[in-house]
Amino acid sequence: MQRIALVFFLFTATLFSQPQTDLSYYLPDGVIYNPNIPTPKSIVGHEVGEWHITHDKLVQYMRELAEVSNRVSIEDRGQTFEGRPLILLTITSPSNHSKLDHIKTQHIEATDTDKANFKDMPIVVYQGFSIHGNEPSGSNAALALAYYLAAAEGSEIENLLKNTVILFDPSLNPDGLQRFAYWANTNRGKNLNADPNDREFSEVWPGGRTNHYWFDMNRDWLPVQLPESRARIQTFHEWLPNILTDHHEMGTNASFFFQPGIPSRTHPLTPKMNQELTKDIAKFHAKALDKIGSLYYSEESFDDFYYGKGSTFPDINGGIGILFEQASSRGHLQESENGILSFPFTIKNQFTAALSTLEAANGMRKELLEYQHNFYKNARREASKEGNKAIIFGDEKDAAKTYHLAEILKRHKIKFHHLKSDVGLDGKTYKKGYSYVIPKNQKNTRLINAMFEKRTTFQDSLFYDISAWTFPLAFNLDYAETSMEKAGNIVNDLKHLQGGVNSKSEYAYLFPWNEYYAPKLLNSILKKRIRAKVSMKNFKANGKAYDYGTIMIPVQNQDMDSSALYAFLNTAAQESHIIIDAVSTGLNEGIDLGSRNFRALELPKIALLVGDGVTSYDAGEIWHLLDTRYDIIPTKLDTKNFGRADLSRYNTIIMVNSYSALDDGDTKKLKQWLQDGGSLIAYRSTLRWLNSKELMKINFKKRKSLKAKTISFEERSNFRGAQVIGGAIFETTLDRSHPVNFGYKNDKLALFRNTTLFIKPNKNSYDNPIQYTANPLMSGYISEENLDSIKQTIPFKTGRVGRGKIMAFTDNTNFRAFWYGTNKLLMNAIFFRNEM
Ligand SMILES: [Zn+2]
Repeated sequence: MQRIALVFFLFTATLFSQPQTDLSYYLPDGVIYNPNIPTPKSIVGHEVGEWHITHDKLVQYMRELAEVSNRVSIEDRGQTFEGRPLILLTITSPSNHSKLDHIKTQHIEATDTDKANFKDMPIVVYQGFSIHGNEPSGSNAALALAYYLAAAEGSEIENLLKNTVILFDPSLNPDGLQRFAYWANTNRGKNLNADPNDREFSEVWPGGRTNHYWFDMNRDWLPVQLPESRARIQTFHEWLPNILTDHHEMGTNASFFFQPGIPSRTHPLTPKMNQELTKDIAKFHAKALDKIGSLYYSEESFDDFYYGKGSTFPDINGGIGILFEQASSRGHLQESENGILSFPFTIKNQFTAALSTLEAANGMRKELLEYQHNFYKNARREASKEGNKAIIFGDEKDAAKTYHLAEILKRHKIKFHHLKSDVGLDGKTYKKGYSYVIPKNQKNTRLINAMFEKRTTFQDSLFYDISAWTFPLAFNLDYAETSMEKAGNIVNDLKHLQGGVNSKSEYAYLFPWNEYYAPKLLNSILKKRIRAKVSMKNFKANGKAYDYGTIMIPVQNQDMDSSALYAFLNTAAQESHIIIDAVSTGLNEGIDLGSRNFRALELPKIALLVGDGVTSYDAGEIWHLLDTRYDIIPTKLDTKNFGRADLSRYNTIIMVNSYSALDDGDTKKLKQWLQDGGSLIAYRSTLRWLNSKELMKINFKKRKSLKAKTISFEERSNFRGAQVIGGAIFETTLDRSHPVNFGYKNDKLALFRNTTLFIKPNKNSYDNPIQYTANPLMSGYISEENLDSIKQTIPFKTGRVGRGKIMAFTDNTNFRAFWYGTNKLLMNAIFFRNEM
């Protein structure tokens, strides 16, 4: 049986042929290899670069290496959404392996004390590959590199491994890598086809770049909302690597890029020395790439501004982050401006740069260790100047949202406390259990600044990514600078969330809409076919004030008796971390419980438009939000199936950023569904589409056309780029009595914006429930022209089509899973659509 399998294997292996590339193609010349270390091919069944490595085979090889090599150990750090292991290899000399804990302790101690001896201290390098799954040369190079590090013999490698602890992360995005390998391999022919028109080079939506819920994980290093990032950030803070590398791919016609990026776009909180060291490290890459005749460039593109990227995150944590970008062959072989680009060649460049990183680490070991030591020494000095200063943050009506910001701090090893008693500051109440205090005098003071600062002036007007991410604004929390004394009684650590029904009632239950997980609770109630109503006005019951949006559940005339109802609500409230109040009378101050100002609610049945023509990030964010946080199950309705789907199954359709996703037939069908009473929630470019199809009349403010007067040909793209809003934060005023704003306790709200869609306000003020203030810029970059345009425009508008309704947002309310503060706007559109 075994022999037959082997013969079959040899037969199929020869069926597929390509320019012969064996392992030696990647490896440096003149090195002897330990024959006891298996080659990748002997484990995974094909040469590196012959096929795209699937994640399961990649893991299989790494486990095998850890088994046979005393230079390699492996750990499982958790799982992706699809259950793939998040492995990490530690690669160093056997002698270092025997005292790894000691090395780690010593390494961290050097960041905590003013004196350190670096003589025999190894440097720590984190090498991460292919965080974008469809940029696969990194993870495929990891096979060859891991082999080299485990099998090479001689003084050179021994010296390297003696001086270096390598934290080796062969796939930063296992689910995306797997999805892309499937695509590239299933479209590979026996004879490779380099024609760029071949199906092999155009993946189906949403592609393998992102993770399971379609997130760009290379934006999550600071917010840490995804399981892959959680595992990685834990390793990062445990070790504080001196160098962290991030291997990517770019357009097929490019060459190879290594950092530094564009110098003027470095975040001002990053020390100057960081970029100088990056430049010194770059010399090692240049030399190694020269040797293999590979073209490259640096400093002309990419930047080090947003700390949520892998190559920038280390820069605010005492390390050096380095981005590599390799021209992508996408599939196995593709024509390019630089001739035929083969997959193995892309792998070889990544292998070469990964190895030159290790050479640089070894060569600059003392310098880089000292740099990190000084980074924290200087940070401590800055921190001690802060004395007893502290940041307090919270929301007296929303414990969960507050908790989730504290959770991010905890992941980043930032110290904080919770309150033993309430504190009043600047007219806000910071309530016990709903607030936290961060002392500024602590090790990670620079990281705290990077997360909490508001910045509105910049050296450059172009940004590779967002220009602002001020966390308390993204979470819509009250926050203030204070002192440890004023913060009063405090306890170290996180305060766990509570929920439940405070007592059994025979009359009715109430819960406020302010808590982050209120939509989860309401959905579970409606799904159970329990009748619930929403309050359109404020009132007082039993002396307690209840806001707009309070949910009321009558006990009588439900499908279950009062005991079953109590038991169900108690469990559901615990799961949603919400306290439900029992009331025994309907008589209130303000509206009574039988009032017509309590409106009956309906279970949302949601179709989320996905597929070609739809921005997968925005759709994925909503899928993730509804599915993982609220246990609401949207149907992912593909644009290609829209024409034959029975839309009457849904009372709500969500269209994220999409301009041309639906054809004329689909549009007609959507219009009919609206006329029959459907509710459409639309975002971003969809608004222009709605306007062009006359489904909704929107008065867009015309942007002043800019005339270049002193701009040269060379400067033209920067001139235009300066008018882009790449991602900044703006202040709005809320009409809290409008259902889209239910659950917000303040009349000001910070909004994220990355579009230049400016809508003129409606004539009647009650039709403008959310409006930008006269001076709206809170944090981030916007051109003067755009700032002038955005003032007093509206980011939200409602419209009617027959019996149906459109609720339109100019901007994303669910950005990258960390904009907790505006998620409720979407949830209000979903649950209170009939009341707007
Ligand atoms: Zn990338």
